[in-house]
Amino acid sequence: MTVKLTFYDGVNCIGGNKILLEDGEYAIFLDFGINFNEENKYFDEFLRPRQIFGIYDLLHLNLLPPLRGLYREDLELPNIWDNFEGHFLYRKVEPIAILISHAHLDHLGYLPYITHQVPVITSLTSALIIKSLEDTSKNLSDLCFVKLKNERDGILKAEENIIFQRKYITYSENHSDKVFEFWKRIERKRINELHENPLEVKNQNLKIDPFEIMFFPVDHSIPGAGSFTIKTSSGWIVYTGDLRLHGRNGHLTKEFINKLKHIDVKVLICEGTHPDIEKIYTEDDVKEKALEIVKSCHHYVIADFGPRNIDRLMSFLEIGKETGRRLVLTLKDIYLLESLSFIGYPDPKRDEFITFYEKPKGNYDPWEKNLLERYKDIPGKAVNSKDIRKNPQDYILCISYYDFHLLLDILPDMGVYIFSSSEAFNEEMKIDQQKIENWLKYFNLEIRGNLVEKREESPLHASGHIHGDGLSELISNAKPEILIPVHSEKADFFEKFKDICKIIYPEKGKVIYID
Ligand SMILES: [Zn+2]
Repeated sequence: MTVKLTFYDGVNCIGGNKILLEDGEYAIFLDFGINFNEENKYFDEFLRPRQIFGIYDLLHLNLLPPLRGLYREDLELPNIWDNFEGHFLYRKVEPIAILISHAHLDHLGYLPYITHQVPVITSLTSALIIKSLEDTSKNLSDLCFVKLKNERDGILKAEENIIFQRKYITYSENHSDKVFEFWKRIERKRINELHENPLEVKNQNLKIDPFEIMFFPVDHSIPGAGSFTIKTSSGWIVYTGDLRLHGRNGHLTKEFINKLKHIDVKVLICEGTHPDIEKIYTEDDVKEKALEIVKSCHHYVIADFGPRNIDRLMSFLEIGKETGRRLVLTLKDIYLLESLSFIGYPDPKRDEFITFYEKPKGNYDPWEKNLLERYKDIPGKAVNSKDIRKNPQDYILCISYYDFHLLLDILPDMGVYIFSSSEAFNEEMKIDQQKIENWLKYFNLEIRGNLVEKREESPLHASGHIHGDGLSELISNAKPEILIPVHSEKADFFEKFKDICKIIYPEKGKVIYID
């Protein structure tokens, strides 16, 4: 049988990975992310792809590949494919699974468009993060619960409230029954017809015929990240996803790199985001530096560490405990942390150093109402602006730019703002540096950490990605026959491995035959 790999994105850029792996008539996708650089060429916060036309806008701008059979039929306008049959990438593909390496949007953000009959294979941790994200977000939907649309007069609308839960097959070593309860929980008002799909939790072997799929947990700037090894009729194909060695779970990446010695690797698809960084700051370095700053501040402390960076949140929780400051989180972070407490993370209900900000709000969303109800009898959990103003030295405010209204509630007059994100700005975050600076200046808050430029040089920034030496060790352990760099703007780094393996630099949409 012929094994083929086609890279529909993640080529010569950071993010947007969409890799099709075919073995004879069977196909799977490795990640299905948003290429933010491409999307931002056309769209921004205020000009979005039109939901009423389903996949039409994204197909036309080449943001989604024209693969018939891959997308939800309810997002296809009548005769939509007539427009694309002549496109050089047009073809039919019906994958049997979508493998998601981790819950960053540049790896899974276009999943909502994929047909809901295809199972998603990922870690249990990623599945919990993805569901939390969907449950608490206004803009993200259909990652777990797909609301079907109907076409009327050339427009797609979700009028009937028919919902299909996607099938998730997940990897985990330990979990409580609460994850299954959480998986069933629905945080919305109107549903006429719900098609539930129970969560599957398995050990490392996630076989989906005819592919043998193994998941290896690795360290990255979001919990639950993993690398996949996939057995095909041409041999083992390894996909690293995003990984690093210097976070709290660096040992997981190390174990994976060691295990590669015992796998006969035919193809290694390897990330290469930061091969050139010499000085690596570890999560421990970041924590130490941030602790020093918090210790020397006797006023307001604000910590901004980007979305879903739970490792960093854990570092600040430890800092809070060492300095007698309680963390003030957003309700979204509490929701996420609560879902992760079912697999061993601190329980925000029980940990007295975790509180949340009682934001002045006219109408709460259903998920917020439910969460507030769950926490209403726990003393000291909800903190308001008066509490913070009275004793600023008792708190670390964990917020980012989009929560800056809080500054107008508490009116700080002195303190520090620690910018400590792990994401490369072009992966998921769009930071308007000038706006942040304006706010902080207005409230007399000193900035610590580099906002955008030279972020990698800041000791308050631990990158989410493995450095050159680590990559070299990974590649020499794997000894692949074929090496394919992905998620990289610095692919020339891989040239030095040309003596130990064949290097193929993928081109967007061009089939690579593996024999
Ligand atoms: Zn990532």
